[in-house]
Amino acid sequence: MIVKGYEKSSHLEAMETLLKRLPPNHPLYTKIATEIRITKAGDFGEEIVFRELEKMQLPFEYLVFHKVLLHGESAFELDILLITPFGAIILEVKNIIGELEFQENPSQLVQQKETGEVNKYACPAIQLNEYKYQLSQFFIDQNIPIQIYGAVVFAARNSFVKVTTNKAKILYRNEVRSFLRKFQHSNPTHTGEDIEKIKDVLLKKITPFNYFPLTKYFSINPNELVRGVECLTCGFIGMYKVTRTWICPKCRKSDPIAYKHAIHTYFHLFKDSITNKECRDFLQLNNRHEANRILTNFHLNKTGSNKSTQYKMPLPNR
Ligand SMILES: [Zn+2]
Repeated sequence: MIVKGYEKSSHLEAMETLLKRLPPNHPLYTKIATEIRITKAGDFGEEIVFRELEKMQLPFEYLVFHKVLLHGESAFELDILLITPFGAIILEVKNIIGELEFQENPSQLVQQKETGEVNKYACPAIQLNEYKYQLSQFFIDQNIPIQIYGAVVFAARNSFVKVTTNKAKILYRNEVRSFLRKFQHSNPTHTGEDIEKIKDVLLKKITPFNYFPLTKYFSINPNELVRGVECLTCGFIGMYKVTRTWICPKCRKSDPIAYKHAIHTYFHLFKDSITNKECRDFLQLNNRHEANRILTNFHLNKTGSNKSTQYKMPLPNR
């Protein structure tokens, strides 16, 4: 049974918005562009493996969770976690194409693409073993004795492991089902009731990581970002307000609710509250009453009065 379904990374779209508003010569531009690429590839791989799990029917009771952020010795995030009568199983998913070689001492994963390009990554087997340790500490803290298993799963169809490692179980995505099915030959250590109890504990303890506001997460000075309302048709930033709508000077498209996306952007990138002045500054609006109308329509939580009025994002900061 799927308990926590697949979700793409909560900060992916916000990172893309951030990049659009960052001057291309900014020292963090390349870092954020890379982070977007890695996050997208990671999400893609996790989704492929997760969809496989959704279709699968194992011969025993099991629960599946996507993206599990927990606190053991420190915070750690598992791509996919299964709870079964035989123990907890972590699937650490990697979406890395090309020829892959696990190297030892120091441990690393070396990728060689068809183009000849070579990249080095932190060893996913070491990473998995660290997660297994963290998860076991978490369950000890919760007074739940449970065996922890795991595997590194290469999700891409065109990844080829040339040299493997014995530090962890390594699977291609089409091996996941048979890997899981094999557990039925072990002795069950957990009843259906135990599994339910573990589910309740996990649901209570899983906390989504808060990346927002992104300028704080990436240590960017908010003043360095381009201001203005973005045209969702052509991507131009700097739509202007006329009566009842916003116009894009580049593609001439009009959009009466273009400001909405901009306000969400403000909350994701700058901070979780906004004043009338900050709203005018960000939307490049010179009309105080118009800004007031916009913020009032947003159903935000209002604190303070007159010039010091702050409008706060009402939802949890996700
Ligand atoms: Zn446009």
